[in-house]
Amino acid sequence: MRAAVRHCLLPLCFGLLAGPAQAGADGGVRDIAIGVFAYQGEQAATLDWAPVTHFLNARLPGYRFHLEHFDADSLRSAIRDRRVDLVITNPGYYVAMEYEFGLSRIATLDSPQALSPERATGSALIVRSDRGDLHGFEDLRGQRLAAIAPDAFGGYLLVVREMLAQGIDAESRLKEVRFLGVPMMQIVEAVQRGEVDAGVVRSCFLEQAAARGEIDLGAFRVLADRRGGAGPEAGFRCGLSTPLYPDWPIAVTRSADRGLSKQVAQALLAMPGGESGMAWTVPADYQPVRDLYRELRTGPYAYLRDITPAGLLRRYWPALLVLGLVLTAWGVHTVRVEHLVQRRTAELRASLRARDEAEARVRSHQEQMEHLSRLSILGELSGSLAHEINQPLTTIGNYARSLLRRQADGRLTEAAVVEACGEIDSEAERAGGIMRRIRDFARKRTAVREPVDMPALIDGTRKLIEGMLLQAPPIVCESNLPPGCEVLADAPQIQQVLLNLMKNAIDAGRDLPPGRQGVEVRLDLADKRLVVQVADRGCGLSPEQQAHLFEPFFTTKPDGLGLGLPICKTIIEAHGGRLWAQSNVPSGMCFSFSLPCHAVSN
Ligand code: ADP
Repeated sequence: MRAAVRHCLLPLCFGLLAGPAQAGADGGVRDIAIGVFAYQGEQAATLDWAPVTHFLNARLPGYRFHLEHFDADSLRSAIRDRRVDLVITNPGYYVAMEYEFGLSRIATLDSPQALSPERATGSALIVRSDRGDLHGFEDLRGQRLAAIAPDAFGGYLLVVREMLAQGIDAESRLKEVRFLGVPMMQIVEAVQRGEVDAGVVRSCFLEQAAARGEIDLGAFRVLADRRGGAGPEAGFRCGLSTPLYPDWPIAVTRSADRGLSKQVAQALLAMPGGESGMAWTVPADYQPVRDLYRELRTGPYAYLRDITPAGLLRRYWPALLVLGLVLTAWGVHTVRVEHLVQRRTAELRASLRARDEAEARVRSHQEQMEHLSRLSILGELSGSLAHEINQPLTTIGNYARSLLRRQADGRLTEAAVVEACGEIDSEAERAGGIMRRIRDFARKRTAVREPVDMPALIDGTRKLIEGMLLQAPPIVCESNLPPGCEVLADAPQIQQVLLNLMKNAIDAGRDLPPGRQGVEVRLDLADKRLVVQVADRGCGLSPEQQAHLFEPFFTTKPDGLGLGLPICKTIIEAHGGRLWAQSNVPSGMCFSFSLPCHAVSN
């Protein structure tokens, strides 16, 4: 009683769960299309699979199941267009379509001809029995082969894998492969007529055709037959050249609802084998089929073929082209930049070399100018130099003559000799000092930077001038420098500046009353810079004259060169300092120059 209730309620429940796709909700019957891969043609397929539809129609009255026959391509279109709900196909196409369309197997055929549902489908490589030259796969080299299609499972791929396992590449080693399509009988006929040397058919196809009286089994032979061996195929009922793979599955498409899948699965698992031999079992493991596809790099694994350089090129050529162009552009850019860098570096080196040479030339010219300027100052001062030198010489001569006279008169005392020699020595020393300072000043030399004692340098310059001039006006020096102020400079060059400024100051007051003839030199520290001021109360200069003061060849003296001040400016600026002039109050000029102080201790 309870079972009867369940029997009655179950379809109703499935109907409610499944919604509009499910039959029975409105009392109508829903048509269910079962797409079948008809490799033997429509008629044979109808004969083969009619038991399934009969059984399902009887078992599931809410549905009306019917068969639709397809070859591989049209079956794909039917699934894509949702024209079929269930699919019965060979294991190979099932795996391919599972990958392509999401087919999902719900049962596997449990055929009495099979060793098991996992070992059911294979291929037979058939030849005419009179071909005594053909025995194994290796004999196929250079022969013509007929098969269903390049992607046919039992009708081609199983044999290709086996040939590959034996080191024979079907594509390159066979003379020709003819793909004849379905029905499969065309292949048997092509072999029989001698149009091809061998053909690939599904295992048991030959035996079934012979049983139907369509061929003479004795006219054919199966190459490398495995059924007699000791392998896993031993005991198989039909001629077989390859390993066995799982049997055909029945699968639902994505468009089929769950209720239908469940009911059909339940029904098929309960289908009695009986005379028709059409029994179903739980879905088999189709991994061996996937392995085959992967090994042959076809079907769902066809993309693996593209992982060759040629395949990758074929697949990604636009991206590779862009990449290639980018890399080429980058390479060209890099080479160009490298070339430019080398050229610019060479140009830079050349210009640096030229600049160094020019600087060296300028330095050498400057040194020559400075030397000439020093000689010029000396030349200007030399008029009185003779007098200066003459003075100690006259004194020395006087003392010498006085000693001789005393000697002749017999008045030569020891004290007189000592006094005269002392005077002679001191006058000789005085004359020597003048000569030494002039020689030092006039010497040709290369500039250096050394710590300079500025008060001492100013004092030495004062002495040099006083030593050379006949009647030097008073030169007053005042230093307000803190101790420890250190200037790095070329002492003779700075002395040349001082000498020039002091001499110009003396010249400015030359024809004026004695009260306006003095020179004042001041040393100060301001903003970490040492400042030297040389002031006079001489004739001074008008603002127009001052505007041209540092231009070369500006001079107001009849015998002047006008080079002293420009050279002084160059020297001071080369030391990082500045030289400027301004009118002195109430009269005269004040020339100032600054120099960087490199160290101040307090
Ligand atoms: P030079 O002494 O050969 O003329 P300088 O370059 O040393 O060359 O001086 C240029 C000119 O600047 C001088 O001719 C003079 O007219 C003017 N000058 C320089 N120093 C003074 C000064 N202290 N007072 C007035 N004029 C000066």
